[in-house]
Amino acid sequence: MASATVRPAPRQAVLDLDLYVPGKSHAPPGVTLHKLSSNESALGASAAAQAAAAEALARLELYPDGQAKALRAAIGARYGLNPANILCGNGSDECLSLLALAYLGEGMEGIHTEHAFLLHKAAIVASGAKAVMAPERDARVDVDAILARVTERTRLVYIANPGNPTGTYVPFDEIRRLQAALPGNVLLVLDAAYAEYVRRNDYEAGIELVASSDNVVMTRTFSKIHGLASLRVGWMYAPDHVIETVERVRPPFNLNAVALAAATAAVADRAHVDRAAEHNLAWLDTLTPEITALGLTVTPSVTNFVLIHFPEDGRHGAAEADAFLTARGFILRRVSAYGFPNALRMTIGSDAANRGAVAALAEFMAR
Ligand SMILES: *Cc1c(COP(=O)(O)O)cnc(C)c1O
Repeated sequence: MASATVRPAPRQAVLDLDLYVPGKSHAPPGVTLHKLSSNESALGASAAAQAAAAEALARLELYPDGQAKALRAAIGARYGLNPANILCGNGSDECLSLLALAYLGEGMEGIHTEHAFLLHKAAIVASGAKAVMAPERDARVDVDAILARVTERTRLVYIANPGNPTGTYVPFDEIRRLQAALPGNVLLVLDAAYAEYVRRNDYEAGIELVASSDNVVMTRTFSKIHGLASLRVGWMYAPDHVIETVERVRPPFNLNAVALAAATAAVADRAHVDRAAEHNLAWLDTLTPEITALGLTVTPSVTNFVLIHFPEDGRHGAAEADAFLTARGFILRRVSAYGFPNALRMTIGSDAANRGAVAALAEFMAR
């Protein structure tokens, strides 16, 4: 018989994790909302993706294709990859979690970086392994700090490249140097959620390295530049042996049919992706100097968001700025949980949202 004083107890490491606090999405009544808190696409989803999703709504009684064949073929065609080496997930979050589930457990260690995407640490801890944090340098992943923390218990390393919430990237020479120095039994997971936004000659998302080694996986998402965050679609590109392993723990119908249809159309709509990248690049070049001119510090970004650091004068801090901007309908993201207590992350939004946010920031700094 169940006792009134005993209940199921989770592992202590799970209880010690911070609860994920999502980006806010409400403005005061009567104020126009500009949600710049979750790195969603300023241009939304392509019309082709929306039409494909609507069409899929007519057949909701059918199970989806558990192998995601059409989507894997479309991704393969777009990037020149063998679809056999692609595995789709319910968001790239699921891909990242499935890798931890398959490769980590009690007595092992997984490495994440100082300002990492919070899911990296959560996935390590949920697997039962120990999470080891590698410090970053100037809000940039530090390959030597990662290598210094590798032990005989290390089995997996997560790196977001570019990083979130930093917006910075690691040149691919550095990633190659990391892979070359890692023991062969350590899986290097390159989370490239923002790869499509990057315009740098020394950046690569990781496709070549996956193809030429046995211990590298790249993950990608449809949530950012493709504008399909609501539908939850991500994918990984991995060597045969990793795909075979992850297939054993993947839920058989992890993506729904509406999501599969929309993503298959989205990846083929290259013009829409190009428009989103151009919109972003133009605003990145504009916003960074404009915000800097207000007396704020912006971490140089290659993504669809900027990390804004506020003064320590007790009057113009991130908490005060957040309240000021929220009251005017501009919802940015507090990033204390990522190790930046006095910064806000601003997603690059529509023209009107970006102009309005800069004007509100100027008003705030002039107070
Ligand atoms: C947004 C984001 C993802 C994408 O997550 P989904 O589950 O695909 O929506 C993955 N990694 C990083 C670093 C991100 O910022």
